[in-house]
Amino acid sequence: MESKKVLVTGAAGFLGSNLSKRLILDGFNVIGIDNFYTGRMHNIQELVNHPQFTFIEHDIIQPLDISCDWIFNFACPASPPHYQKDPIFTAKTNFMGSLNMLELAHQNSARIMQASTSEVYGNPLQHPQTEQYWGNVHTTGPRACYDEGKRVAESLFFDYKRMHNLDIKVIRIFNTYGPGMDPLDGRVVSNFIMQALRGEPITLYGTGNQTRSFCYVDDLINGIMAMMQSDVSVAGPINLGNPIEFTLKELVETLESVLGRKLNIVMMPLPEDDPTRRQPDITLAKQLLNWQPTVNLPTGLKKTIDYFRQFVS
Ligand code: UDP
Repeated sequence: MESKKVLVTGAAGFLGSNLSKRLILDGFNVIGIDNFYTGRMHNIQELVNHPQFTFIEHDIIQPLDISCDWIFNFACPASPPHYQKDPIFTAKTNFMGSLNMLELAHQNSARIMQASTSEVYGNPLQHPQTEQYWGNVHTTGPRACYDEGKRVAESLFFDYKRMHNLDIKVIRIFNTYGPGMDPLDGRVVSNFIMQALRGEPITLYGTGNQTRSFCYVDDLINGIMAMMQSDVSVAGPINLGNPIEFTLKELVETLESVLGRKLNIVMMPLPEDDPTRRQPDITLAKQLLNWQPTVNLPTGLKKTIDYFRQFVS
């Protein structure tokens, strides 16, 4: 049987590049799409000459006509400083980009996955967050371009399913870290590790008592593959993340124990609308996909530190 032709949007990004590598290992033919807005050539350097990989520089805000069996829609700037730099572009990527990819899936009768996010829960009033929770998003705040963009993308996915019986898979990804992250993307794990490696103070925003639940990228990719290969009846949305919750102070302490030294901390103001707590309820993923993370934070941080060392001069 000929192997599937799989389109990955955002293929030069953190998750898109890790996913493309996994798909190639599993024998798929991958067409990677990226506009290099936040994606990096560095991430796909080892793929561009691979016989199972074809790269197309393209912005999904523009329509695309290509034949494929599966689509992973992973294109979107994902770190708050990046998605807030041009919020209208972020909203367009999520709305128009998702619409274009859904049209493409419809034309090809392809299965399509949307990389949605824990951000659809906003600053959650329910803890941990189950898929049934409708969220608490500040619709006119600085994070809305991403949160509302991802929410409208979910709506579009389910409308295509209802109207056209499209084979959709919607996953809600919680904070993920690991090799392939942009050392400059401004997110907490990359910032803290780069600062520690450079001997700079750790920039802790707010009190440091806010929480996040950090999933190592290989665990997430296993969950993504399980979801994409699940029965057609499993459309989601389904949470994918590590349910072990840490305060940011605990993240610093874990980093200190992995590095074997104390780190200097500088307290900085909390960004507007920064969610207070975030923790996925992954009961559904366990039941339907037989999936749960296996890499603990110290082990994942060690691997991520090793990856980031190359960017420290
Ligand atoms: N954060 C921090 N220092 C940094 C970067 C981020 O304390 O240098 C905090 C941020 O305010 C938030 C948490 O870390 O509470 C996670 O931020 P990130 O940007 O990684 O992702 P988010 O989960 O907010 O989308």
